[in-house]
Amino acid sequence: MGEGGVGKSSLTHRFMGYEFLETYDPTIEGTFRAESEVDGVTVEVEITDTAGQDSFRDIISTYYSRRGAGYMLVFSLTARDSFFALQNRIYEELMDTKRSLSGQQHERVPIVLIGNKSDLPSNREVQLTEGQAQGREWSCNYFETSAKFNENVRESFVTLIREMNIA
Ligand code: GDP
Ligand code: MG
Repeated sequence: MGEGGVGKSSLTHRFMGYEFLETYDPTIEGTFRAESEVDGVTVEVEITDTAGQDSFRDIISTYYSRRGAGYMLVFSLTARDSFFALQNRIYEELMDTKRSLSGQQHERVPIVLIGNKSDLPSNREVQLTEGQAQGREWSCNYFETSAKFNENVRESFVTLIREMNIA
């Protein structure tokens, strides 16, 4: 989840083993299946790449019944607004929706926080320490990734998969 343009589709495609593209259709929303080896075990992962046209609640409700749903919260290191969008809106919406669907006040939700586009240091608007601080506040792992250079992409997905397995 995350604002348009932060790199959600690029990260998904990278994890699937595809090359980086300079442009993706921003309206395409898709579900992808991949097999991945995590800690010596082959796991089947289903990744829903959201495109923002559905309501948050619809997306989460659709996948809620599936076991072990986890969420990547993605912003762009080059767009502070996209970091604000997670802090001010998206995180709370996710938690509210999960709470109201489960009826549990303190449900454990597997999350990783991603600051993408680390390959553009001269355009950086969010510092490493800010992402790390937010990760601590949300008790989740924080990664800085580059979908373009394929840096930290697999690590981010694998960390989330591990979180989902213990949830
Ligand atoms: P989405 O709307 O969140 O799915 O974002 P996209 O994956 O469509 O990416 C939006 C734009 O940012 C595209 O032009 C991508 O090529 C570009 N982009 C995505 N990830 C990176 C990255 O890690 N580095 C750079 N330099 N550009 C990226
Ligand atoms: Mg997209």
